[in-house]
Parts: sequence; structure tokens; C-alpha cells
Amino acid sequence: MRPNIYLVLLFFFATSVFAQKSEITESLYETYEKYKETSLTKRRIKYNELQPLLDALKSDSRFTIKTVGKSIEGRNLSLVSIGSGETNVFLWSQMHGDEPTATQAIFDIFNFFRSPDFKKEKAAMLSNLTIHFLPMLNPDGAERFQRRNLLGIDINRDALRLQSPEGKTLKRVRDSLDADFGFNLHDQSRYYNAEQTEKPATISYLAPAYNYEKDINEGRGLAMKVIVFMNNILQKYAPGQVGRYNDDFEPRAFGDNIQKWGTNTILIESGGYANDIEKQEIRKLNYVSILSAIYTIAKENYKNIPLEDYEKIPQNDRKLFDLKIENATYTLLGSDYILDIGVNRLEVDKEGNNDFWYSSRILDQGDLSTYYGYETFDAKDYRIIPGKVFTEVISSKQQFTSLKSDYLKLLKEGYTYVRMTNIPTELIASPFPIHIVSKNYELPEFKIEVGQNPTFLLEKNGVLKYAVINGFLIDLSSPQVNFKNAMIFR
Ligand SMILES: [Zn+2]
Repeated sequence: MRPNIYLVLLFFFATSVFAQKSEITESLYETYEKYKETSLTKRRIKYNELQPLLDALKSDSRFTIKTVGKSIEGRNLSLVSIGSGETNVFLWSQMHGDEPTATQAIFDIFNFFRSPDFKKEKAAMLSNLTIHFLPMLNPDGAERFQRRNLLGIDINRDALRLQSPEGKTLKRVRDSLDADFGFNLHDQSRYYNAEQTEKPATISYLAPAYNYEKDINEGRGLAMKVIVFMNNILQKYAPGQVGRYNDDFEPRAFGDNIQKWGTNTILIESGGYANDIEKQEIRKLNYVSILSAIYTIAKENYKNIPLEDYEKIPQNDRKLFDLKIENATYTLLGSDYILDIGVNRLEVDKEGNNDFWYSSRILDQGDLSTYYGYETFDAKDYRIIPGKVFTEVISSKQQFTSLKSDYLKLLKEGYTYVRMTNIPTELIASPFPIHIVSKNYELPEFKIEVGQNPTFLLEKNGVLKYAVINGFLIDLSSPQVNFKNAMIFR
């Protein structure tokens, strides 16, 4: 009965490999909090916050840390390497300064490698691979929370001309490692969705093309397989929330060229996730899927994944709003019209680029039935009513504080603006869902229009039921929860 024993053994072996693979992902997800770098908590991270974390790695002999370049403003670009395997994996993040999600995940991954846990899995990774990280390639941009570097160029269009020291460094490091796998780590707009669904593209992937024909050579094919592997993982934690990035060839971009230069390149874009403005859940998904990908590259068990599955990942689309109001009745020159309104809450950075406030806009209006919202409100049988300016002028601090408890009362009476004398200069935005206007500020004529700040009331059967203030939907029958700020018009 020997053949049967072989079959049993083969079966046992196959299932245990499978179990091992899914187990590492699950336990990475479940134990994440243990490794999360707790000093990094929000998107606006700076170079100075990373330096003590990099210094701490220097005392750990398993890591090699080298300064491999400098930004225009003189900030060091550091390459952190671990492992002794023959396959080189190179990950770089934040070449766009306002795209920090993967940088944070990289520091979580460092904590994972420093811990005494996952011994077997780490042994497999570090004996088969040498893993190199270049976190925050654009520290000058990160300082200002802006996409471009200090020269004002997009580093991701500098792969050929190589004018930026940051781009030069990336090219030189890639060439010296001649890396087998490359992870090009970015963030994308939170308004991307998986095509024809209301699901945000929380993570989008791309195996960049290396020519206009979009040919698939062996290397690009391997990158596609690793992407399918990661997609399968994410479907478990964020079902439907993965997109496939457009693969048009961009001859000036790094991803496309690094693919061309012989590194199997994977682009990861961190997008949006409901109620995760600071992207900490998305950071966790980066951590889990990147580490799982590194593990499967070490074990080489991604190679049997069918290539066709890559095309099955839905395309990225950009059809999401923060708030979508459907079927509202709007009166213009005495006639009624039905409108959908798409609203986005745009971030305005505070001085120092450490924090932000919202200045919201109507992005589109009309038939928006092919669009979706993080928050959607069906305003069928609701009428749009302009807000009024409160008749009394607020002058004392006491009156100002009393607004905190009274705003709902004012909104119910149709007031969306309050006049105030001597608005403190340090006050950037109104902390209540009522706009503050200076004594002499003249409000423009009310109109629902693209580009306007979304501020109005919704009335049903003659009763005001909801207010929209700076793009936040306020239920007038209950205290709201997720409001951040209204505007000040001086
Ligand atoms: Zn980017």
C-alpha cells in the first residue's frame, strides 16, 4: 500500500503548507497591536520622528543602517537591511511627501523583526531573503505634507532625468542591489473606489508596465502573482476593497522603469477606508499584506498562482464622495428640481503641517446615480432650505461657550451662521456645527453650486430635520458624532 502512504503524506504536506501560509497572515493580523510603532499615530509624520526609531535599530546587530543619500534640504535618506538570503527585496516609501501610510507600516515591520516571536517564519524569511527598506524617500515633502520635493518636482516623473537627489538615490540603490523584488509604496486619494461598487479602493495594486505594449515578461508576471496573493489576503479583512491601478506605461515614472531595469515591481497604493481618516486600519493592512508577501516570496509558494487572477481584480475608479445626498428638492426661481449633491471635505493644513481642518466643497450636482458616498443620505421628499444668520451678535466668551450647548436649538430654528465681534485671531475654524461670521461680513446669495461650501437645511413636511454644515450631515433630532469643524468667514 505504499502509493497510498505517499498520497497521504503528499496530502498532509500540501495542507500543512497551506495552513502555515494562512496561519501566518491570521496571526499577523491578530497580534498586530504588539508590533505597532506607537509613537506614530497619524498621517502627518516628520523626518525627526523617524530618527530615534532608526537610531534604536542601530543597537540591533541584525540590522544594517546606511545613509545612502540626502534630500535637497539635507535630510538623510537611510537604507535599513536585514537578512542574509540571496534574493534581494527592496521596499521604498513616501516618495510623495503626503503619502505616509506605508512608512508607518515599515516601522511596524521593524518591530516585528526585533521581537522574539514568529521564529520559524522569520528564519525562513531572513535565510532566503535580504530585505532592504528605504522609508520616507521625500522627507522635505513630508515636512510640508506635500506631494512634491523641495525643487517642486514630482520625484515619480524624475526616473530618467534624475535631477532630484532623492530620485538619484533611489536609482543608485536599486542598481547596487539589483533587487529581485521591489515594493513601490504610495497613498492614493480616498475617493477612489473599486469599479462599479460603493467600496473604497482601500488598497490598490499594480505590476507596472515596462513598455507601451504592456507586455508581460517573466518578472512582471511574478509581480502579478504576488499581487494576487496579497489581494486574496485583503479580501478577508476588507472584502471588495481592493482595486487594480491603470497600467498605462509612463516612461518617466520609477515603478515602470524599475520594472524595466529587471526588478519585479509591485506598486501598493493606500486609499481610503470608512471612519479611518488617519489611515491606521489601512496601515495595519499594509503591515499584514506586505509581511505575508515577503514570506511567500521567501517560500516561493506564490508561483503556482494563476496569472489570469490578476485581471479579475476590479479596476480603480474615482467615484466616491465623503457625503452624497440623493433626490433632494431644490427650488430655483420658483421652480422645483431634483438634485443629487456630491460633497467632499477638503483638508487645509494648519501652520507647521501637523494637523488640519476641513473646508468642504460641493464637487458635483445633478444625476449622480453612478457615484457613491462614504455616507449617503436619501433626501427624497426633503426640501433644501437656505440657512439664516442669527439675529443677535455674539460678543462675550461666555456667549461663545454657550453656543456649544445651544447650536442644535439654533439649527432647528434655521440658523446656520452666527455673527461674532472680535473673533479671536487664533481661532481658525468654528468648533460647533454653526459657521461664525464677522460683524460686517456679507454672505453671498444662497445657491447650490459646484465649488460652494455645502451649507443648507433639509425640511420635510414643513419641519427642519437635517442640517448640512461644511459638508457634515447633522441630524437635528440627535446630537451628532463625527463632526469636526464649521467655517469662520471674517
Ligand atoms: Zn504617490
